[in-house]
Amino acid sequence: MLVETFLRKQLGLKTHTVTKVEETERYMIVHIDRLGRRLLRCGVCRQRCRKVHSIRKPREWRDLSMRNVPLKLRYRPRRVECPRCGLRVEDVPWADPWARVTTALSNAVARLARELSWQGTARQYGLNWKSVATIVKRAVAYGLAHRARPPVHVIGIDEVSRRKGQVYLTVVYDLERRVLLWVGDERTEEAVRPFFTKEMGKRRCHTLRVICMDMWAAYANLVREHAPQAQILFDRFHIVRHLNDAVEEVRRSEMRRLSQKEKVPFKRSRWLLLKNPWNLSDDQKERLSTLVKWNMPIVRAYYLKEAFQLFWFYRQPKRAADHLEKWMRSAMRSRLEPFKKFVRMLRGHLDGILSWTKTRVSNGAVEGMNNKIKSISHRSFGFRTAENFIAAIYHCCARLPLPAER
Ligand SMILES: [Zn+2]
Repeated sequence: MLVETFLRKQLGLKTHTVTKVEETERYMIVHIDRLGRRLLRCGVCRQRCRKVHSIRKPREWRDLSMRNVPLKLRYRPRRVECPRCGLRVEDVPWADPWARVTTALSNAVARLARELSWQGTARQYGLNWKSVATIVKRAVAYGLAHRARPPVHVIGIDEVSRRKGQVYLTVVYDLERRVLLWVGDERTEEAVRPFFTKEMGKRRCHTLRVICMDMWAAYANLVREHAPQAQILFDRFHIVRHLNDAVEEVRRSEMRRLSQKEKVPFKRSRWLLLKNPWNLSDDQKERLSTLVKWNMPIVRAYYLKEAFQLFWFYRQPKRAADHLEKWMRSAMRSRLEPFKKFVRMLRGHLDGILSWTKTRVSNGAVEGMNNKIKSISHRSFGFRTAENFIAAIYHCCARLPLPAER
């Protein structure tokens, strides 16, 4: 088979043909021309057009490589007279209008960019970083416009930091399908509003049943406004994190109070206190027991934390509520300020905490996705703008469709 025929088949050309393949120092140039008088399509509406108005100057598109030689397609696009749109440049089946690479190449780049950094992807395909950024952003725009939007019932709202905790983004997951739904700049109420008004819209908000979020988050009002029928559930993992923060605060203030000599057994005790007791080694258990013998505030903090955790195992709402009530009373008597603060926070959010026994979902279901986002931000120093970071998050976590290769 001639290489021209092979390429024509590979490119799936019907109204065009490969006239010759020319080898230059760096590229294989594939010359393409119109095939006979077959009707060309309008580049806007893809309608067949009878009349060709003019022939434009040659354009080139980067394509996938053949063995190690990159291919370039060269063609002089026609301007056609579309009955609907008027004078337009024709539709070329190998690329999107205005794209400088073929759809086959941009899809291959987009697929690799889900696994590698944009720099790494660029190196792999001999492109520059900017081209990869453009390809990914176009792929995301296409994917967002064409993705399936089945009804959503259970969502988790969380935040991720960019640039070492200086800037925050809000992410929304479908916890049932474990897929990213939306990313927003910032983490304020105003920033999250577009998720309800634009991404979901009034009709789709109606199907929401459970909304899982952090107690400290600013968007509970938004939920009441846009999805009043949905149950707010304060996320288990966030609650435990606040609880651990309280333990840590007690430990630190004790450390400040103790003399140098008294401090010795407490060195590096942070993880001893935060770990679940069944995960401790014998040596660690030993250290923990000396620790609790020595210091009463730390002991109280530790046992309070352990006692609280029983809450997650109750199956009957009444028992869970009783446990929590009892726990809050004992925490208030503990004379530990961080725990009192924690209790005051719980008091203000009881309904959304107790709904755990009924719904039993948490953002832990998408823990893997959160880690993925972290690794995206670590592997790419190039994300100086939120726009690029947001595109990369959508690209890796939202399972967006890529354009079809014609
Ligand atoms: Zn048209």
